[in-house]
Amino acid sequence: MRRFWLSRAYLPGDTAAGGWASEVEITTDAAGLITAVQPGRAAAVDAVRLDGPVLPGLANLHSHAFQRAMAGLAEIAGPAGDDFWTWRETMYRFALTLSPEDVEAIAAQLYAEMLAQGYTAVGEFHYLHHQTDGRPYDDRAELSWRILAAAEQTGMALTHLPVLYATGGFGKPASERQRRFLHDIDGYAALLERLRPRLTGRHRLGMAPHSLRAVPAEMLRAALSLDASGPVHIHIAEQTGEVAECEAFTGQRPVQWLLDHAAVDARWCLVHATHMTADETARLAASQAVAGLCPTTEANLGDGLFPAVEYLRQGGRFGIGSDSHISINAAEELRWLEYGQRLFHRGRNMLSGAPGAATPGAATGPKLFDAAAAGGAQALQQPTGAIAVGRRADFVLLDGNAAQFAGLPPERLLDAWIFSGQPNAVREVYVGGERVVAEGRHVKAEAIAARYRAVMRKLLSS
Ligand code: ZN
Repeated sequence: MRRFWLSRAYLPGDTAAGGWASEVEITTDAAGLITAVQPGRAAAVDAVRLDGPVLPGLANLHSHAFQRAMAGLAEIAGPAGDDFWTWRETMYRFALTLSPEDVEAIAAQLYAEMLAQGYTAVGEFHYLHHQTDGRPYDDRAELSWRILAAAEQTGMALTHLPVLYATGGFGKPASERQRRFLHDIDGYAALLERLRPRLTGRHRLGMAPHSLRAVPAEMLRAALSLDASGPVHIHIAEQTGEVAECEAFTGQRPVQWLLDHAAVDARWCLVHATHMTADETARLAASQAVAGLCPTTEANLGDGLFPAVEYLRQGGRFGIGSDSHISINAAEELRWLEYGQRLFHRGRNMLSGAPGAATPGAATGPKLFDAAAAGGAQALQQPTGAIAVGRRADFVLLDGNAAQFAGLPPERLLDAWIFSGQPNAVREVYVGGERVVAEGRHVKAEAIAARYRAVMRKLLSS
């Protein structure tokens, strides 16, 4: 058993101070799970002290780790105008060069950065499986082990989502450039079985049919029969071109088709779901699935805006992900989720209340944070996102002396974190009670960054 003492902690449920409680003693068991939360206690001599505001860890529900290394490399306009599909060509060229060592070094750098921003669990939507020539590695799970190794080195809780990828578009064969991603159903089933025994403890195994354009209907059915309870993540309706192709091929829009042909429920995470009709929005909200939103990547790729106001009004669940990692900053994801809706609807505090749009007096920051924390934990089946009995001791200590929080009452703190933060206010992070970030940096940041820099020099000079 371990004991922690938090001078101020953000606890579930409304209190007079907007969820903030003082002098909170927390005990944990050997697995790093919380066994008691008791506000109003003096600090015991053996307690680990966290002085300052403490948030629960957030789940980052959508990551393609290797794309961290191409952030900044796809911001040059091409002769015919740039869009998602030209970005994807850059991504393919990059994906075809990476070695297993490269993948591990990049993922470790990424996870160290995520932890330093207060993300304590990641959903790794992992589609780089095979050797550069497309043949499986001798161990078919080689690149998955590299992702797991990066999580272990950094202390990140991993929900590993191996991707099933088979076709290059609706009714089209996969292209040569997709050769590292591809599986038939038997190979995919074997990969899951290989991985299952080692994704234990703080790690989870789920599955990820890549998208309706990459997985034919009968294959999707076969994949879903491989596991009845783990998380299921899928890219859906990110691009209008994809919606049009789906309609032409199936007669239905992607979200509509999925809701009609799969038992979408609370184990599902529909990533992006950007382009939905009012009917699709209502049905997705009612399904209890999580919408996986990645506002900075969706902006970077010019995807469009998710109908968040309508979706939340109907009780829809969401979580956030950093996806292509052009930003690794939870506060920025939440800020841009809200700002997108403000720009579109020409109003303010659009996501502060549900149901029924803006609730007078409701603060936007806590609403965004609470929803993303709960949705992210659900989507990854990770016991994070709340400081409560049965959850993991994932703590994010903010710098209570930061200028952005000066003089604020506790109930304004999350608004300030999301809407006024420029520097990273996170000082310390604990995962399962283990400290992995100190003084704003991952405890192994130097060694991890040195290895990452060497990999990047090699990749960019070749
Ligand atoms: Zn993605």
